[in-house]
Amino acid sequence: MNSLRFDAIKNITNSSVAQSTKTADKITSVFNENVFTLKTARHYLSDEAYKSLLSSIKGGKKIDRTMGSNIANGLKAWAEEKGVTHFTHWFQPLTGLSAEKHDSFFTLKGDGTPIQEFDGAALIQQEPDASSFPSGGLRATFEARGYTAWDPSSPAFITETGEGKTLCIPTIFVSYTGESLDTKTPLLKAIVALDKAAVDVCQYFDKNVSKVNATLGWEQEYFVVDAGLALARPDLALTGRTVFGHAPAKGQQLEDHYFGAIPERVYAFMKDFENESYKLGIPLRTRHNEVAPAQFECAPIFEELNLAVDHNTLLMDVMTRVAKRHNLMVLLHEKPFAGINGSGKHNNWSMATDTGVNLLAPGKTPKTNLMFLTFFVNTIKAVHDYSELIRASIASASNDYRLGANEAPPAIISIFIGKYLTDVLNQVESRVGGSFDEADEAMLKLDIHKSIPELMLDNTDRNRTSPFAFTGNKFEFRAVGSSANCAGPMTILNSVMAETLKNFKIEVDALIEKGEKKEVAIMQIIQKYIVESKKVLFEGDGYSEEWEKEAEKRGLPNVKTTPVALDAFAAEKAKKLFEDNHIYNHLELEARHEIMLEEYIKKVQIEARVMGDIASTMILPTAVKYQNMLIENIVGLKNLNISSSLYESQQAVLEKICEHISVISKNVEAIIEARKKANEISNTRDKAIAYCDDIKIKYFDTIRYHADKLELMIDDSIWPLPKYRELLFIR
Ligand code: ADP
Ligand code: MG
Repeated sequence: MNSLRFDAIKNITNSSVAQSTKTADKITSVFNENVFTLKTARHYLSDEAYKSLLSSIKGGKKIDRTMGSNIANGLKAWAEEKGVTHFTHWFQPLTGLSAEKHDSFFTLKGDGTPIQEFDGAALIQQEPDASSFPSGGLRATFEARGYTAWDPSSPAFITETGEGKTLCIPTIFVSYTGESLDTKTPLLKAIVALDKAAVDVCQYFDKNVSKVNATLGWEQEYFVVDAGLALARPDLALTGRTVFGHAPAKGQQLEDHYFGAIPERVYAFMKDFENESYKLGIPLRTRHNEVAPAQFECAPIFEELNLAVDHNTLLMDVMTRVAKRHNLMVLLHEKPFAGINGSGKHNNWSMATDTGVNLLAPGKTPKTNLMFLTFFVNTIKAVHDYSELIRASIASASNDYRLGANEAPPAIISIFIGKYLTDVLNQVESRVGGSFDEADEAMLKLDIHKSIPELMLDNTDRNRTSPFAFTGNKFEFRAVGSSANCAGPMTILNSVMAETLKNFKIEVDALIEKGEKKEVAIMQIIQKYIVESKKVLFEGDGYSEEWEKEAEKRGLPNVKTTPVALDAFAAEKAKKLFEDNHIYNHLELEARHEIMLEEYIKKVQIEARVMGDIASTMILPTAVKYQNMLIENIVGLKNLNISSSLYESQQAVLEKICEHISVISKNVEAIIEARKKANEISNTRDKAIAYCDDIKIKYFDTIRYHADKLELMIDDSIWPLPKYRELLFIR
């Protein structure tokens, strides 16, 4: 019998482990090989061009056309030496992926002479024919074209696909009138806003600080499965997750996978994609197994935020591409397998000054302690005040399956800070009336920096369940989904932090003006912020039901579905925040909201279709086939006058199969009707809610339940879909 499932299994058994392409002995010898780093730039650029590039990177200075051409020439010389023939503006449209449009250096002069050329204009700005990227109606409102513009703060790099090499210029993507159409533009704006607000606050403590960089270290979780098996499942191929599939007899109960040995085939793949990543300057540091079978994680050394985001986007591309060479498929979806751990992308975030201080690292002197407390408490206040937006920043159709499911943070935004810092905040809070005059000295002499590391070790288990945890010298935003572009949540976090710090400064300055001593004024506002935001702090088990109840009592939002979570983007509060900080104007914000809702609808729509298709064309026909086998068997036995009590069990199975077939058929019909109805809704939010409530929630689980029951009853040799045990355990 022809079966993709069994062919795939046979192929795995027959094939030997794919070897990774030869990798360098030392990471340092390939690291940044394909990146136009400042060191490389120094070599290929004139003094003048180099200086111009440097001041653009460090100080955000504009590069003029002439200088642009000089830099472009240097870039071209470097790229050509490496065998590059094409260049592209590399950008991140609102689909969350990256996009490229390749142009060659090749061109013809007026007289027809062929030459290789890359001028400043081509480096600085392009008009990609990108009208099919989501724009939430923005480009229609203004001007049909969007254009990409060079972001010098992220270095150019060369990608290698097979024999082809392409010079990639990181760019932003905006409409002709300047509205952002990508994820990078608002991120850069939020980085600038935070820089300004944080530098202003730093002046209280150190006048030498002139720049604050947000830092990000992401941890990427993913599943790896055999590509042949995965492609035999239309759901995995089209949606990145399994919409059917019964849990395997051996699940993750044993938890023997966590930190266990990495299977050889996966190891070869890892070495390969890591090697490519190093060439691209992605500083990967760790790799290990995750809790679920076939689940893994990699994490780099943290970097300046904008670069870290680009590197994560690149990494996801590289992983996906390299996996194909190994006949594997990487699943970046947040919940590829029901009942098995999902994947997240923890965003470790902090802020660093140009004087070399991590603003979320506890200080060693009273003065630096106060600086730490300032930024620490402001973060808590920011997350508290804007928890709806923080929640919205991680909302997506795919992350909905993960949040609140086993081993994933709930949809309630809370912060874990550990017992020691809880005590510190309690002490600050209990100074009634903000009488810090004598007490503040003692308070600030606390050995915060010494006590925190120990404390963090004690609490590792607990803080795992928190969506937003302080981990010693940074906050770890854990609710971010594995397939997300970090720019979304990071734009929001940096914006709310900028706003909070701005207000902090206004409040402190007001007290100082009234004659209060600077340190006392700062402590008083810190105290005020602790009181105002402490309800967001939670040290207990975030996965428990008690927490849901407790959170409700505290009045913390618990929004479980994306269409409703996204309402935060439509709120007046969000409009004001983003306009005041120059991140989004109200049109851009409305467009984003619209795009996210549309994306949600599309995702659920595709899942519903795939579910219907698989049920109608694969599962039901198989069930009917088996039904016929049973009927034939029962009729045969009956004809032989065998006592009916002896084939009761076949009869019972047959009846159950009839039942499941009937429920599945009815619901597949009903879901089609529900889709038709939802498609008639013109308001995007209402339509998204219909897709969520009347399609996904109402039908998905029911159809799946009955199909998964059939999987357990039907002859294994005719079941068409690769099973969980095969996907997760065959390596
Ligand atoms: P874990 O125990 O979760 O593995 P690590 O200390 O190894 O914690 O850090 C996890 C991630 O946090 C890494 O990517 C690391 O580079 C990053 N990280 C560490 N310090 C900072 C910081 N100051 N800002 C941002 N990210 C950081
Ligand atoms: Mg982590």
